[in-house]
Amino acid sequence: MTSDFDTTNSVGKIDLNVYPRDQHNISREHISENALKVLYRLQKAGYDAFLVGGGVRDLLLGKIPKDFDIATNATPEQIKLLFRNCRLIGRRFRLAHIIFGRDIIEVATFRGHHQQAEKQTSVQSEEGMLLRDNVYGSIDEDAERRDFTINAMYYNIADFSIHDYANGMRDLNEGMVRLIGDAEVRYREDPVRMLRAVRFASKLDMDISFETADPINYLAPLLQGIPAARLYEESLKLLQSGHGLDTYDLLREFGLFEHLFPQVAELFTEEENSKTEQMIDLVLESTDQRIAEGKRVNPAFMFAAMLWYPVEAYAARLMDQQGMSHYDAMMTAGNYILDEQVRSTAIPRRHTATIREVWQLQSRLERRSGKRAFRLLELNKFRAGFDFLEMRGQVEQGDTQKLAQWWHTFQHSGRNMRQAMVTDLGASGNRSGSGRRRRPAKKKPKKSS
Ligand code: ATP
Ligand code: MG
Repeated sequence: MTSDFDTTNSVGKIDLNVYPRDQHNISREHISENALKVLYRLQKAGYDAFLVGGGVRDLLLGKIPKDFDIATNATPEQIKLLFRNCRLIGRRFRLAHIIFGRDIIEVATFRGHHQQAEKQTSVQSEEGMLLRDNVYGSIDEDAERRDFTINAMYYNIADFSIHDYANGMRDLNEGMVRLIGDAEVRYREDPVRMLRAVRFASKLDMDISFETADPINYLAPLLQGIPAARLYEESLKLLQSGHGLDTYDLLREFGLFEHLFPQVAELFTEEENSKTEQMIDLVLESTDQRIAEGKRVNPAFMFAAMLWYPVEAYAARLMDQQGMSHYDAMMTAGNYILDEQVRSTAIPRRHTATIREVWQLQSRLERRSGKRAFRLLELNKFRAGFDFLEMRGQVEQGDTQKLAQWWHTFQHSGRNMRQAMVTDLGASGNRSGSGRRRRPAKKKPKKSS
């Protein structure tokens, strides 16, 4: 069953395809209980209620959605009256959160078209970026405002049909990420869509259509106008969602990565084998693997790895040009690189603190004599510091690798063996991996004869 209708706007004509229940594979069994509760409550109160966006897309692909978003013609105030556990959020656009313990279902009122709404509360910057838009609209207007065709499908709780406004079903089957409307216009409205295109392409293993891919090369610099806090959130979704390595490759291919991590990109080489590039490969590989194994990942660790060689390079300049000590240069460089980084992606303070700790542990791990090695082992951040050292060992080889091996053995040894390892350090004068000078042994006072 297909019905078409015309709407003329900046996005152009949209075609509605309706797929009844027997023409798609979404079953209510796969929708979370809480999302279903919200959908039914809205419907019983006489409103339209649809599951929308990533939830519908992922269910159609046979994947488990990260979250279930709902769209309705009820206003936020009307939604609030229906649910005791409802909180209204958002200044840019009011949304309702229905709270079920830790599970939150987001319910959005259909949004109107910003072009028509211009005289009301929609504001655009000179570059055509949407700054604020608070206008409710119809479901077809809501669909046009969404980013990609595969994200503009609506599952109707009234009859379990899917309303597909932009040929999303076709693109989903063909594995194509395609912006709705004119790509350049849509990217100028919201440059983050360039990052989202890359994210969905790698996460869903799809291609980006030519018209959608083509403008990215010259529009990528628009990312510089995006608030650093938003780019931070996006960078986590890009690199910490289980497909980090693929996503990173695509980001580089499209010239997007350098706008997220400019200082890192400065060290990139033609052969793609600089220490920085090797380190990024290692950390993203292990991040992807941890996520695949259902383990937790710490963003601070990834940022620490990405920024380590930029810190080293800057520290080398400080030692060279200003005669700073190694220790001071590394501290100063660490602060400088982080300060610069948060201007593009705002890594929160709790993470920058951890990043510094992991970096500082790198030189502390060299000094193992006396009780030091035993004390280091007790540190909260020892594990992160050691894992980091191991990755550096893989990249740098030589003394760093030997030091990482020493720590590996140390951790897996019993008390006596550990003591022997430490004693051995002193006896053989073996300071493998240590770049620092040992204090010269105190001269024995000469016996006066
Ligand atoms: P994910 O699996 O990452 O959650 P998603 O498609 O659900 O993917 P969200 O960021 O949760 O992505 O957004 C939900 C929906 O809101 C999208 O599917 C899309 O329809 C719409 N949307 C989100 N961000 C934008 C944007 N920048 N421009 C236009 N539409 C957007
Ligand atoms: Mg989502």
